[in-house]
Amino acid sequence: MEQPIAYFSAEFGLDAALPVYSGGLGVLAGDYVKTANDLNYPMVGVGIFYRRGYFEQRILEDGTQQAEYPQLNPVQGPVVEVLCDDGRPLEVEVPIGDRRVVLKVWKVDLGRVSIYLMDADMDRNSPADRKLTDQLYGGGPETRICHEIVLGIGGVRVLRALGLNPAVWHMNEGHAAFLSFERIREYSARGVAFETAVEAVRASTVFTTHTPVPAGHDSFDFSLMDKYLGNFYWQMGATRERALQLGAADQRFNMTRLAVNTSAKVNGVSRLHAQVTRRLFHFFTPEIPAADTEVEFITNGIHTPTWMAKAFKELLCETLGRHWECEVQTNPKAWQRVQEVPDERLWQAHQQAKREMLLHLNLPFPTDCLVVGFARRFASYKRANLLFRDIQRWKQIALNAGRPVYFVFAGKAHPADAAGLQLIREIYLHSRNPEFQNHVAMVENYNLTIAKHLVQGVDVWLNTPQKTMEASGTSGQKAAVNGVLHCSVMDGWWDEAYNGRNGWAIPGSTGIPQDQQDDQDSEAVYELFERQIVPMYYDRDEDSLPRAWIAMMKESMASLAGPFSSYRMLSEYDQVMYQPVWIRSRNFLANDLAVAKRVADYKAFMRRSWPKVRILSVAINNTPLAGKTDNIVEENLHILIQTRVYLGEVWHKDVRVEAIISCGPCLQKVVDLQFTGDREPGVGEFEGVVTTNPSDESQPTIRVRVFPVSEEFASRFELELVTWSE
Ligand SMILES: *Cc1c(COP(=O)(O)O)cnc(C)c1O
Repeated sequence: MEQPIAYFSAEFGLDAALPVYSGGLGVLAGDYVKTANDLNYPMVGVGIFYRRGYFEQRILEDGTQQAEYPQLNPVQGPVVEVLCDDGRPLEVEVPIGDRRVVLKVWKVDLGRVSIYLMDADMDRNSPADRKLTDQLYGGGPETRICHEIVLGIGGVRVLRALGLNPAVWHMNEGHAAFLSFERIREYSARGVAFETAVEAVRASTVFTTHTPVPAGHDSFDFSLMDKYLGNFYWQMGATRERALQLGAADQRFNMTRLAVNTSAKVNGVSRLHAQVTRRLFHFFTPEIPAADTEVEFITNGIHTPTWMAKAFKELLCETLGRHWECEVQTNPKAWQRVQEVPDERLWQAHQQAKREMLLHLNLPFPTDCLVVGFARRFASYKRANLLFRDIQRWKQIALNAGRPVYFVFAGKAHPADAAGLQLIREIYLHSRNPEFQNHVAMVENYNLTIAKHLVQGVDVWLNTPQKTMEASGTSGQKAAVNGVLHCSVMDGWWDEAYNGRNGWAIPGSTGIPQDQQDDQDSEAVYELFERQIVPMYYDRDEDSLPRAWIAMMKESMASLAGPFSSYRMLSEYDQVMYQPVWIRSRNFLANDLAVAKRVADYKAFMRRSWPKVRILSVAINNTPLAGKTDNIVEENLHILIQTRVYLGEVWHKDVRVEAIISCGPCLQKVVDLQFTGDREPGVGEFEGVVTTNPSDESQPTIRVRVFPVSEEFASRFELELVTWSE
């Protein structure tokens, strides 16, 4: 690939001095582009320069969060203005309703990779439009749709103005999905028909979804779409209906739907999250079972050099050699060598990081006592207060004179999230409660700098989300590379990382009322602290070293730092997403979009013809085993399935007919039924045999389905057409 991957994200967490991020999504994007930069991987980042960024947090005496939005001064920050060849500032225009808004462009130059950030604060815009890109996630749906127009449509225009023609377009979350609108418009302006343009765009786009709950996916009223993009539909060569159809779900325009409908590949950010996403997408296409919805998974990782404490880097360079830092970028196994580091040296480095944290964050904790960290966005599902569910129990753990435990919290709540604000108040009041004797601290204004101190300096990193709500989580990965032990609900990345020796697992309950989940999960946390974490931490040998603890620190670093680094993550995106999609896009675009056009025509034909397709009959017969010899005892039951399908104009080779055999609640077999003839015009006959075990108590249920296929589809159900038997 000579042309870069264009990585679009509404947030980038690169540096605390550039607060254009709010949490995990942005920090991940920042770590990712830094990784591409380290590896000299062709990539360009596209985002928004929010003049006031995300807010700074102050907490008042009564626990109220106060949000302050200081004006960013770009001239002092790590950004430079992008200029044209003639020395004038680069500008692009985006359509916002019936206005044209001019955007100026800032660049963060990492060395090899640049991130371009768009900014509407220009004299030529109206006073209202100048404020358009003022705050990240500020305002209501109108601001949101404007931001997404700036990001998607403006972003493509910026890359074009820079003369770039990306190999693959990557939407980091649905916020960026309007980039497909703009690319379709570009094709249309060149005379390409809308449906062909959609296929061309789709063939070269990938989408990463991060949000496991439906409410987290942006969607807009159709009327809002008309207000802001009503003049854009025809420019794409589409009718209003067809343009809106690209994102239609539940009578709204859903950005995730748009992203899925214009991407060749979709991925979730952990194994568990990909499963949750399949179930979520199943609501969009109820005819297609969750198991058949194609969602890859690429688990998030962190940019290790950003997060590892200086004391640790130095120690590892010293004991493992200077090339070690480069080696682990390409060889995750190199982390095994952490086992060679002497125990006392590792402990010293950890204690040093801890002292630095206590100093910088002004925490009144002793250095030789167990300190637990909990820092993340204060969204309700993360349950910052789970520890305090049973205050007496917590006190017995924390205030134990011989083996005390200290807790430090940090995190912002979205200013519109009342439940999150209440959580902050609760934790803050605990920190002020004299009965708790300063065993709880709340650090204000969680950001990249504070995150670094915390993940480097505490002893245990606690993570208590409601299971399945945490798409991946990354802060525990940051802790792990610093020898900080992770104690977490088996959710997100931890579900695939925990090996019984590298931290602690809270199983996490699901499928019961919230209150009971909280009871069970808090009980599990208390037990871990009482029986394992506290005793292990305070179990010292004659050198005052907690040997078992240090062994776990080493196991944690050796087993987690490699697999959960962003180097591994980028190489997976390269192999699973970018390379195949790049090949696909060259194929689609060659010969004046010949394949894109063919696929568009094929889909149009199928959409027209499919409503007539019906399964006329399904016959099920037990059959004797062909070729059976008398001396073999027959154990299996063979079932012959025959079906007649009315296909009308659709050719039998363009469909796949399958029987789905379910025995019991989860066992499922899929059998391909072969074409056997078409004695009646327009009716295809198909059959196949399935072998089941007659000793199964349950009677199998058999359903037949037919759906259109094409070698040129990126996924089996790309057309989202399927017809089932009764
Ligand atoms: C890493 C990080 C996050 C994300 O952490 P989670 O584990 O996803 O909660 C959020 N905010 C900041 C400042 C971070 O550094």
